[in-house]
Amino acid sequence: METERNLLERLDEDPESIETVIIGGGQAGLSTGYYLAEQGRSFVILDSHERVGDAWRKRWDSLLLFTPARFNGLPGMPFPAARDKFVNKDEMADYLEAYAQRMELPVRGGMTVDRLSQQGDRFLVSAGGWRLVADNVIVAMSNCQVPWVPPFATDLDPGIAQLHSKEYKSPSQLHGGPVLIVGAGNSGADIAIGGRQEPPDMDGRQGVRPHTVPDRAVVRAERPHQHRAFRGASRPER
Ligand SMILES: Cc1cc2nc3c(=O)[nH]c(=O)nc-3n(C[C@H](O)[C@H](O)[C@H](O)COP(=O)(O)OP(=O)(O)OC[C@H]3O[C@@H](n4cnc5c(N)ncnc54)[C@H](O)[C@@H]3O)c2cc1C
Repeated sequence: METERNLLERLDEDPESIETVIIGGGQAGLSTGYYLAEQGRSFVILDSHERVGDAWRKRWDSLLLFTPARFNGLPGMPFPAARDKFVNKDEMADYLEAYAQRMELPVRGGMTVDRLSQQGDRFLVSAGGWRLVADNVIVAMSNCQVPWVPPFATDLDPGIAQLHSKEYKSPSQLHGGPVLIVGAGNSGADIAIGGRQEPPDMDGRQGVRPHTVPDRAVVRAERPHQHRAFRGASRPER
């Protein structure tokens, strides 16, 4: 365990210097790293999580991606599943980890960047006790890591179990009785469906799940005539 004194001594040392620091090792950070590596540039990817893919691994148990596998691959490595399959969060996480290994991307896990400042024409990146000086910083942290809970949530009866989707893992966390899901986007729809691959009212194509916005967008763009939501709909006027 590092003592405060050790930490202060280490902060006094010259910080490591590198051409580019990428903050965040999700899809954006990894693919940016792929292209930098292709050009032989020197860089490092810092991520808070210990393992590449943990941002996906830590989501709820039943989570299936809303994009079919053919859209999930990063540059240079297709997603290893049937094109139309809706994979689960762990498959996505393992793919990202395998990607970072195969592309030999320099990811440093367990590094939460807590400060970024400009020092002349370079940048100082601090993560815990570590400091790095960089010519370029690419912020690829996304904003979906930070949960937002509406202020009125604190006014609700304390007897009601309230969870943000970031904390939700499985129905075992809920009290008995009906459940209100606030938010009918992909997270809300996926939690409601609970991981079922093939809802009963669909037209039999395995893995296609209804009613989420990107599903509709994907189907509409590719095979509008096959989706019941668009059957009989006339082509929009241009
Ligand atoms: C529930 C859910 C389901 C989704 N399903 C799909 C889907 O089916 N298909 C699809 O295309 N998209 C889906 N998305 C969206 C997709 O996850 C994002 O578009 C994508 O992950 C964005 O990639 P990113 O690299 O920008 O961010 P992220 O994947 O969020 O990666 C950001 C990384 O930054 C790291 N980080 C954050 N702060 C710091 C810090 N201070 N220091 C160091 N590291 C930090 C995090 O640990 C994380 O690994 C879904 C999102 C959610 C929340």
